[in-house]
Amino acid sequence: MARTEPDRTLEQVASETRARRHRVDLRRFITDVVTTAGGIVDVKDEYLLHVALPAEVVEGFSLPEFGVLAFDYDAAKDAPAAEFVTFGSPVLDRFVALGLELGRVTREYARSSAVRVPPNLMGRIESRIGFNRSRRPVLRATSIEAYERAVFGFVVSYISDERFSESVAVAVDTTNLADDTDLLDESKGVTFSSEPQGFAAGLTAKGRPYSEVLQKALECLQARVRPRLATHQAEVRGFCEKELVTVLGFYERTLADLAAREEAAAAAGDPDKKARIHSKIEASQVERQRRIADIVSKYRVRAEARLDSVTLQVMPKVRALLEVRHKDSIYTQPVFYNLATNSVEPLTCPRCGRRFFSAYPAKDGMFVCSTEEAE
Ligand SMILES: [Zn+2]
Repeated sequence: MARTEPDRTLEQVASETRARRHRVDLRRFITDVVTTAGGIVDVKDEYLLHVALPAEVVEGFSLPEFGVLAFDYDAAKDAPAAEFVTFGSPVLDRFVALGLELGRVTREYARSSAVRVPPNLMGRIESRIGFNRSRRPVLRATSIEAYERAVFGFVVSYISDERFSESVAVAVDTTNLADDTDLLDESKGVTFSSEPQGFAAGLTAKGRPYSEVLQKALECLQARVRPRLATHQAEVRGFCEKELVTVLGFYERTLADLAAREEAAAAAGDPDKKARIHSKIEASQVERQRRIADIVSKYRVRAEARLDSVTLQVMPKVRALLEVRHKDSIYTQPVFYNLATNSVEPLTCPRCGRRFFSAYPAKDGMFVCSTEEAE
């Protein structure tokens, strides 16, 4: 324990504590922004970070591709290559601009009353997860770990001749890149706070790089937007067809009329008139193609998405390691019990990435989500 020197007043100590909290907040903010931008953060010590940013980010925000950032005046003096990051420093402003561009990034921690293995854990697991064609699972080991879920808020716009937007939330488990979107409802009752409470102080969530997490989130988003886009396209298809019928009808009449006049001119032995009418026919045919293309593109619905916000939710979970016997083999399967939502989480299929509660043993020693995948 550090002792406070007697010659410092309480006020001095309080102001230093405040300053320190600001520095730590800045470091966390910068770390979040850099990792969300697909960059890498190397923590040298409490006040010194080495950061690497992707080239496209560097260009847009005049940030260094490789930088040393100091969050303390003395640390900055000791590392001559370091840029001192503090409130009002230009480099901080550029990171704020990048953070704003990427969306608000916040990390929050679940408040959980009991961080311990719940009584009758196996009963809870067996009431939700079914292991088909297998003996009853045996609990081999448990551990309590912190897990991080990244919740992305996207604004998706559907654009044709009209435009409308909706908010779409997508959640990804940063450890195994599982799609957690369907689990968001379960965590609606969980209270989160901005500072680690109890459990989180001693546990750190070890997630994959945010570039991978964001990549996965975009895949989840596309999977959700695709059917909506098809629905919107189907909604306007009727209008598109109606307009096409009108336009095609108009050109059919026009061209029939011109053809009759061309024939009449030929019969009357007027080659100049015939040639004039013939070029009108060709012009009308070109115009008809252009009108059709215009109508089709007017009713084509496009989707655009922008990332609006990122929230990192840290939750404690029990990692229960089960052994399940199928025929002569023993399968080892981790199951997660979320201590913030008090629920057994569905397994994640190693084949297709889907979440599932009914497990089938595959020949390669893994549980999968369907009989077809087990073959
Ligand atoms: Zn599957």
